Amino acid sequence: MPRRLPPLLDVYHDLHAALGPQHWWPAETPFEVVVGAVLVQNTSWRNVERAIANLKQHGLLEPHRLALVTRPRLERLLRPAGYYRVKARRLGNFLKFLVDEHAGSLDSLFALPLAVAREQLLSINGVGPETADSILLYAGNLPKFVVDAYTKRVLVRHGWLDASSGYGDMQQLFEQRLTVDVSLYSEFHALIVRVGNEYCRAKPKCDACPLRHRLPRSGPCDY
Ligand code: SF4
Repeated sequence: MPRRLPPLLDVYHDLHAALGPQHWWPAETPFEVVVGAVLVQNTSWRNVERAIANLKQHGLLEPHRLALVTRPRLERLLRPAGYYRVKARRLGNFLKFLVDEHAGSLDSLFALPLAVAREQLLSINGVGPETADSILLYAGNLPKFVVDAYTKRVLVRHGWLDASSGYGDMQQLFEQRLTVDVSLYSEFHALIVRVGNEYCRAKPKCDACPLRHRLPRSGPCDY
């Protein structure tokens, strides 16, 4: 049975007070956010930046132009992001969807009702819930809370979530307790990722973490 969750806004304020604004998502355009969201799976942001710099250098960070790039060339350009064959295929799938269904316009996608836009994104082969929700929140400025492995680790270690919970359970937990607010959703997820990167690692560094005062008396739960 999970421990009682504190008001999530208080947890947010703990993080924000300690770590400050995270300025997410680091991108110049919504399309750059989308490309980053597809490329960031299983790699560091630094590697994603190198692949995006390649696309920029060749003037390809635009849906129609990028959709015309051959697969072998796209793979070469994406190589710094790792798993470049898989990522080129996923990006190709997204581009085909965007050009075929929305004439290459992200505005057209984001003008749909949120649930429909999400469903369309999830229908693209290789786009899972975290990628779809990152696109909706950070490229579309739409209120979808993004959760990830870091979110789960923090919640489970504090005893606030059952380890068997899935993506949808975690997302609901945030969306049901927070006011619908794109800036709050954006900043909160970014702060959780920062905590996961810096403190809540495989071996947690609770002593230095801004959430240490919220641990159960017995310390972090095993996870
Ligand atoms: S206090 Fe410990 S368990 Fe909690 S988020 Fe920080 S590092 Fe993770």
